[in-house]
Amino acid sequence: MPFLIDTHGHVNFNAFRNDADDVLGRALKNDTWVIMPGSQYSTSQRAVEIAERFKNGVFAAVGIHPIHLEHREVDVMEVQSAKGEKESWMTFETRAEEFDHEAYKDLAKSKKVVAIGEVGLDYYYEPKGKAKREEFRARQKETLEKQISLALELNLPVILHCRAAHPDLFNLLTTRYPLPTSDFRGVLHCYTGNLEQAKKFLDLGLYFGFNGLIFKKVPALPDPREIISFLPLDRILLETDSPYLVPSQAAVERNEPLFVKYVAQEISRIKNIPLEKVAEITTQNALTLFHLSF
Ligand SMILES: [Zn+2]
Repeated sequence: MPFLIDTHGHVNFNAFRNDADDVLGRALKNDTWVIMPGSQYSTSQRAVEIAERFKNGVFAAVGIHPIHLEHREVDVMEVQSAKGEKESWMTFETRAEEFDHEAYKDLAKSKKVVAIGEVGLDYYYEPKGKAKREEFRARQKETLEKQISLALELNLPVILHCRAAHPDLFNLLTTRYPLPTSDFRGVLHCYTGNLEQAKKFLDLGLYFGFNGLIFKKVPALPDPREIISFLPLDRILLETDSPYLVPSQAAVERNEPLFVKYVAQEISRIKNIPLEKVAEITTQNALTLFHLSF
């Protein structure tokens, strides 16, 4: 069993185009496994290609992130403090992609694909005007449902991205699927909902992912320490969301899976549980949710 698992590290993104194998090699050498979620077809495909180069410990997820349903310029630095020059990977342009069930199903044939993700709802960058907003939300929900259907068809868990949309996600999950009794299983990656919402999602049997965001004070978001204190350790997953959200201890601009250890340390501190125990339980959670073998 590995010591830690970064359940959400985008080593398949451009930020790692020159050294993905080195970065993953470093993680593996430090007994840390990695799951790389896709954000659109091209990054999903790259996640599978990279994972297939490794014998074990490196896995992929495939899916369309809600921001890739629109054409938009995205500046990821809004979620981290900018130190110095902007690297090219810190901004990117999205194309409006439509979900192609067969194409994603084909990608998911790889033994390395352990989830559908990351998929979900993101109402942070909404268009102005009621009609446009309704259409934008409807498109996200419809695409999410299609991707959940694929997950159920393939008996895979779902890596959920949810930003400023927790009530709608909860309603979608509970009205469309008889949770927690259906075969649906998944994780709310980078959990930013409040405590009341966490209680409701916990009752649905979902897991909760935490990353370097827990070190940052974001006034608009609930205090992650309160959520982490409340949640049972057996529902918590560790992640980095590399290349974003680098923990300040790492003192670099680009996050990578190895730094998931800082998240483990912080959770150990918040919950007052020994680091070894946090590592053991969260690793077991990831093995269980994603059906990983070692
Ligand atoms: Zn992500």
